[in-house]
Amino acid sequence: MNKIDFRSDTVTKPTPGMLDAMMNAKVGDDVFGEDETVNALEEKLAAMFNMEAALFCPSGTMSNQIAIKCFTQPMDEVICDQTAHVYRYEGGGIAYNSMASVRLLNGERGILTPEMIEPEINADNIHYPNSSLVVLENTVNKGGGKCYTLGQIEPIHNLCAIKGIKLHLDGARIFNALVATGDKAKDYGHYFDGISVCLSKGLGAPVGSVLLSSKATIKKALKIRKVLGGGMRQAGFLAAAGIYALDHHVNRLADDHQHAKALAEALQQTSYAESVMSVETNIVLFDVAKGLKADHMVRALESKGILCNSTSDKTIRFVTHLDVSSAMIDQAISNIKGLHV
Ligand SMILES: *Cc1c(COP(=O)(O)O)cnc(C)c1O
Repeated sequence: MNKIDFRSDTVTKPTPGMLDAMMNAKVGDDVFGEDETVNALEEKLAAMFNMEAALFCPSGTMSNQIAIKCFTQPMDEVICDQTAHVYRYEGGGIAYNSMASVRLLNGERGILTPEMIEPEINADNIHYPNSSLVVLENTVNKGGGKCYTLGQIEPIHNLCAIKGIKLHLDGARIFNALVATGDKAKDYGHYFDGISVCLSKGLGAPVGSVLLSSKATIKKALKIRKVLGGGMRQAGFLAAAGIYALDHHVNRLADDHQHAKALAEALQQTSYAESVMSVETNIVLFDVAKGLKADHMVRALESKGILCNSTSDKTIRFVTHLDVSSAMIDQAISNIKGLHV
């Protein structure tokens, strides 16, 4: 039986069209700045988001960590939600790379407001770390794919501007947010000092993230990427997959969102799932019913041909993506409903 893989939107394989684009990429040594496909990807994304410049990085972790390094000094403090990827899932990189502390907020499914942020900005006082950076995540991974709208981002931007604090966006799934909210990529550049965009999540490229910022910041970022060992040579083969994904895989994210909603509805009807979080994009989070263990349910679902992950001892996550078709969703729904525990 072929398993249907909902563990992550990172499990996708390049499509034939994407592989073709990769095979035919014009490449050069990107450390010399001579890879025209990397340059084209960087220019394309910078223009899309109305930012001055861009830097192709091996991972979203690296593009976030480079941004944090660019926007802080040692002894500064970074403000973010307590579930933020930059804090929880980047190996303590904020401390290691940037020697900064972190102020954690309790957002609503990871969504912060200016009212939450403002009291946590430190006054100018020798006792306190200097609050120099706010990091938002859109969509919020641990918030079950919840989105910020630009209308929610604008007042946060205004607060940061008044306080002289930089604002970075971990946009690992920014295209899911754009498709779900109808906001325009072009309008994002005005609000953020840095934006990290993942090509290897819902967009379906095998590798890569891009950091967007000002020319001056990207110049600094280029040096930091080199120090972290992220300077790549004929990276155009990978960048070509990113360009292909931007041209072909953005609008279809609406299908993933529809699929996630259908899965959530099916789960809601089972006895083993409760408090299924409302779905906004491509992530479904739910708790297992009382007396059940998430790990046990993950194994039970696997026996029905469905792969998913637990995110705590009672929470399970499904993520929809390019390699799950509508037919596979129908099959999964039937198997989800057919499972009795
Ligand atoms: C996946 C992800 C990243 C980047 O992860 P990499 O695996 O390093 O590319 C960053 N932020 C969020 C919210 C993510 O989900």
